[in-house]
Amino acid sequence: MTIRQIIFEATQKLEKAGIPSARLDAEVLLAFLLRCDRLAFFKNPENPISKEQRAAFDRLIERRTGGEPVAYITGRKAFWSFALEVNPAVLIPRPDTEVIVEEALAVLRQESWRRPRILDIGTGSGAIALALACEVPGASITATDISEAALQTAQKNAAALNVEPIVFLKGDLFEPVEGRFDLIVSNPPYIGADEYQSLPPGVKNFEPEEALRAGQTGLEFYEKLIYQAHGYLTENGWLLLEIGARQKQEVRAIYEAHQDFYERIDVREDYAGLPRVIKGRRR
Ligand code: SAM
Ligand code: GLN
Repeated sequence: MTIRQIIFEATQKLEKAGIPSARLDAEVLLAFLLRCDRLAFFKNPENPISKEQRAAFDRLIERRTGGEPVAYITGRKAFWSFALEVNPAVLIPRPDTEVIVEEALAVLRQESWRRPRILDIGTGSGAIALALACEVPGASITATDISEAALQTAQKNAAALNVEPIVFLKGDLFEPVEGRFDLIVSNPPYIGADEYQSLPPGVKNFEPEEALRAGQTGLEFYEKLIYQAHGYLTENGWLLLEIGARQKQEVRAIYEAHQDFYERIDVREDYAGLPRVIKGRRR
């Protein structure tokens, strides 16, 4: 069997299982197995595949037809300018989350703090904290998570990237944190009870519930973060939060309910045109 044939066959299996990006997934998984670049398949489509390779590939395709996300199968996910290790203890970082990084960088440019103190609450794989550590030399960055396994993954990612050192702390929201920060960022869990039930099976059955579920309404973390962050922000410090596409009004209302605390509340859209990041500056 050749590369071209095996990709064709796997694509058909994935399509039959209702996997939307069947062809791409087949190529990514084969590249992972053969430890090569996908481009090699275009250059040498007629190269042979051994029996052993075929058996191993079939097992990967079976996992994928069972709904397991490609990133958990390969253990890697691209984010910002690097690849992160991911595993079922961490949310697979989403491209949408790069918008909160961009917005954080915009705030940092505008405020021009010399050595900004930055806090990432619920860091998961470390995605946001690591992107900022790459882009903001001299920043002093703290990242927290309630999950020990997530923190270990984030620490491994930090060690692999050789960026500004990050302080990792375990605990519930601000509980392990001391001092004040110029910028607090978070992509908290924001899926309510009903929405959780209707998540795609690849998300619901494989990604950590703890990373996604936020009480009954999905707003639980916003209420706590917006209220508590005020005590951890420097004067003129900013709080930036990722939000779900339908949460703009509600989360804005929470900021506005604390008008004595925050000013310049604003929402930024992602590249699909959906509300994605909301920010406010401490008065
Ligand atoms: N920041 C990562 C990203 O953007 O890809 C992960 C975001 S994920 C939606 C939310 C993260 O918050 C998870 O890693 C979860 O373990 C963590 N988390 C959940 N409840 C928490 C809490 N009470 N305190 C701190 N972190 C929490
Ligand atoms: N964006 C994630 C999803 O689509 C949710 C992440 C979160 O709850 N912060 O499932």
